[in-house]
Amino acid sequence: MSETTAPVTIGFDIGGTNLRAAAVTESGQIVGRLQVQSQGTADSMEDAVVSMTDQLMEQHDVRGMGIAVAGFLDEHREKVRFAPHLPWRDAPLRSRLAARLPIPVSLEHDANSAAIGEAAFGAGREKRTWVLMSIGTGIGAALMHEGEIYRGAFGTAPELGHLPVVPGGRPCPCGKRGCLERYCSGTALAATAQEIAVAEGAPEQLWTGESVIEAARAGNCIGERAIAEFAEWFAVGLSMVVDMFDPELVVIGGGVAKNHDLFLVDGVDKARSLVVGAGHRPFPTVLPAQLGADAGMIGAAEVAWRQLRETQQ
Ligand SMILES: [Zn+2]
Repeated sequence: MSETTAPVTIGFDIGGTNLRAAAVTESGQIVGRLQVQSQGTADSMEDAVVSMTDQLMEQHDVRGMGIAVAGFLDEHREKVRFAPHLPWRDAPLRSRLAARLPIPVSLEHDANSAAIGEAAFGAGREKRTWVLMSIGTGIGAALMHEGEIYRGAFGTAPELGHLPVVPGGRPCPCGKRGCLERYCSGTALAATAQEIAVAEGAPEQLWTGESVIEAARAGNCIGERAIAEFAEWFAVGLSMVVDMFDPELVVIGGGVAKNHDLFLVDGVDKARSLVVGAGHRPFPTVLPAQLGADAGMIGAAEVAWRQLRETQQ
């Protein structure tokens, strides 16, 4: 019982599919959870955040809340500028929620939240300069520099997933072509399997990231080839990260990271040979994320804890 009476902050993870909330203690333990589908208008999503907060406040001693948003925030983390799968556009989400709730509210980008969670309680503990690559539907990325999130001048860095790697390549929902995440993501696995199947004249089948992984595990040749191609592009992406940031650690998160046994060793081996000065420089440690799908919520809750500690000083 002592755990449930410990003070908590609430970490929200607002993704394109689900709106999830967790009550998290100062030591990173999740002691309560709620989840609803994230559909509808900005108003209905904000109503859902308020009602989930109310529910958790009835059960826990809640001191604050943080929200991880899958979208671009302004540099002051007040507004959601743009989110491809969410309804907010240039919306002052932080102040709107703060006006309706009796606790402090903070916003953070979802990949940054996951990196803050991994830094505090997961694979990034005691590391200073490292990169999180979150590989799921697309690629989310965060850069930890000297123990702090690097945001760029206007708050949107780093967008590794949208670096073009194939001129004129696969179209990307971002409006560009040939972006890395079109070749190295769950969505990319499906597209690659589809291309191979068509080239081989294989029977028609609707491929998804999961079905490609299942097929590869079952020894199906299309699945295996799609994974091998994914690993090649993962190596390209990883070598660019190493060339650009020279990190001590790269943490691989996101839905695809659960299947890291299929591609991580091959991908890292290949990436070692692709970096400039290969063989004459240290290569970072590459690890799967430790907090899994909870990293964003735990990180958002940690942002709220930090804000509370700052205001108490
Ligand atoms: Zn793109």
